[in-house]
Amino acid sequence: MEWSELIRWLSTDAARKVVGNARVFHKGSILLHAYETVNGVFVLSSGKIKAQLTHGGALELQAPTCVGELGFLGQNPAIATVECTTEVEAYFIDKGCLFALSELDQRLAMELMFLLSKLALERWGGRYHDRYVALVAHDNKKAELVDFVRKHREYFESRNIIATSTTGKRLSGELNIRIARTTLSGPMGGDQEIGGLVSNGLIEAVFFFRDPAWSAPHLSDVNALVRICEVHNVPIATNLATAERMVGQ
Ligand code: PGA
Repeated sequence: MEWSELIRWLSTDAARKVVGNARVFHKGSILLHAYETVNGVFVLSSGKIKAQLTHGGALELQAPTCVGELGFLGQNPAIATVECTTEVEAYFIDKGCLFALSELDQRLAMELMFLLSKLALERWGGRYHDRYVALVAHDNKKAELVDFVRKHREYFESRNIIATSTTGKRLSGELNIRIARTTLSGPMGGDQEIGGLVSNGLIEAVFFFRDPAWSAPHLSDVNALVRICEVHNVPIATNLATAERMVGQ
């Protein structure tokens, strides 16, 4: 079964009694906000959308298709902000709707679930679970972090690295190491971006070489990052000795 066939079914009078009419979203409307949980999917019958991924990068999608499948299937928070780049028509299907649809036509409701699972696997298979190792260093500690990463190059080359802006530039400039994603600079909110990813289970470990002799303007963000790692039991090294143990030395 294809999405177009499913959409034809959703537009029948019987199905619309359950799902309602397709809703119209104007260009620029946001269908999903990253990190928010929406327990349903949008099945697009017309229009185009852009999904800005929290991992970095973007997907441009066109009807007939669907968004929100990860939230629906796994009760996960959205990993993208999805914006309509044209006018869009979409049906919204939540769990209650799906149960009602299966009373109407069990086979077609099952086909819908198969399509959603197939789509989720194709779109995200493996990728969603690739977590990051985060690297952050205050200015006086950047050289120490560069030396540390150089020493443990093999460990870091086998990871997806996320780094705050200036730290990332320094690492890729001096070591030519692949940085999968950079955030804003720490004082501009980069530490908070990493904290958001920690909350969503997307960070494997944090190496945060902070300068204890510097009263950073973004001290509250620095402390918040440490705190959120404590909340989610994510390893965080704030000095060299701990960092060495975290990479197994
Ligand atoms: P930076 O940010 O890598 O952009 O210097 C680090 C920080 O100060 O938290």
